[in-house]
Amino acid sequence: MNIAASHLDIRTLFLAQTCAMAAIAAMLWVARSPADEGNGLKTWMWAVGCQALAYLLLANLSWWPMPLSTLLGNALGALSVALFFTAIRQFLGLPIAIRRLALMFVLVTAAATVASGLTPSEHRLIPTIFNGFVYAGLEWLNALALWRSPRPELRRVQRIVALLYFAMALLLPVRAGVLLLDAINVGQFSIPEAWNQPIYLFGFIYIIATNLGFLQMCKMRAEAEVRMQALTDGLTGLPNRRALDEAMDAALGAAQRQEQPFALLMIDLDFFKSINDRFGHHTGDQVLATFATRLRGGLRSQDQAFRYGGEEFIALLPDTRADSALVLAERLRQQVGSAAEPSKPAISASFGVAVWQPGDDGDAIFQRADRALYQAKALGRDRVALA
Ligand code: GH3
Ligand code: MG
Ligand code: MG
Repeated sequence: MNIAASHLDIRTLFLAQTCAMAAIAAMLWVARSPADEGNGLKTWMWAVGCQALAYLLLANLSWWPMPLSTLLGNALGALSVALFFTAIRQFLGLPIAIRRLALMFVLVTAAATVASGLTPSEHRLIPTIFNGFVYAGLEWLNALALWRSPRPELRRVQRIVALLYFAMALLLPVRAGVLLLDAINVGQFSIPEAWNQPIYLFGFIYIIATNLGFLQMCKMRAEAEVRMQALTDGLTGLPNRRALDEAMDAALGAAQRQEQPFALLMIDLDFFKSINDRFGHHTGDQVLATFATRLRGGLRSQDQAFRYGGEEFIALLPDTRADSALVLAERLRQQVGSAAEPSKPAISASFGVAVWQPGDDGDAIFQRADRALYQAKALGRDRVALA
């Protein structure tokens, strides 16, 4: 601590923070994209920019009279805290209480106005105490919101950022409390350098780490969304063929390890070409979407439906033997079909059922399901066949 006391000076640290924040804000500006609106990164960029200016003013380079730099520095600091808070809530899709944030801004600015009329050491002391209590509340809310991450792929990085906010939420009011007690009891109206310098240093690390953390959160979520899109069929919303390949690998692996058979249903809409021909492609698309919804609705929670391509679908039924697969396929066949109405086509589908057997690879089970489907079609369609 003594080393810190003898080597760190706050002005240099604040200037370094200004440079780091300005560089980050500039990078975010250069790399901005329309997606930043939705995930809060745009708000974050403004927060970082405000913070850079705030530290520049609080470093007090004697460019402006100190009362003015105290006042503006703290006002910009409050604005940046409000913007960081807003950005996190935008990212998480949580509501933002703008009036409360505005009240926080007014209170912090009022305290800074009071401080700027006092002695130079009180310029820093009073906002440090007052803002310490106010900002702790916001840091606490940030930490809680981030901790409760609903998305498993983001949980780890969100929780690390949350821990940084928790640490700040504890540190700020404790420091404010100690400074307040010192002022009341000992009449110490300045910030003792010795034990405060490590806190300033932590503040620096916190700024860099929360910035990296938030960027990482945005990047990971964007990746997860792109991956999700790559695995989803645009028309029906069902997982697509690529997702099926992944699910098949997993199902085959589980079946081979545990000798636990799974069933595969290959489902093909009947006379779909004539639906397109008679009612148009738009109606054909609607039929496919409705069919997919019915198919998913008819499956058990552990089963998965995929759009294989065109008017062909696959259902994977884990831990299912031939007898139950046939019962389920028959029930599905009845649920997904519908009779013709004056302006609507009749919908029916044929089902080919295959069950995994020891030694099967993906091709083998697919070929059996295909053969079963062919039989169902050949026997008149709108029926279930097993191979
Ligand atoms: P079957 O009972 O023998 O299966 O006859 P079918 O008419 O259903 O089979 P066929 O393979 O001859 O025709 C499938 C049609 O599905 C042809 C194609 O134009 C149509 N189709 C494939 N994908 C889409 C799509 O995304 N939207 C629409 N509207 N039609 C599609
Ligand atoms: Mg077909
Ligand atoms: Mg067909």
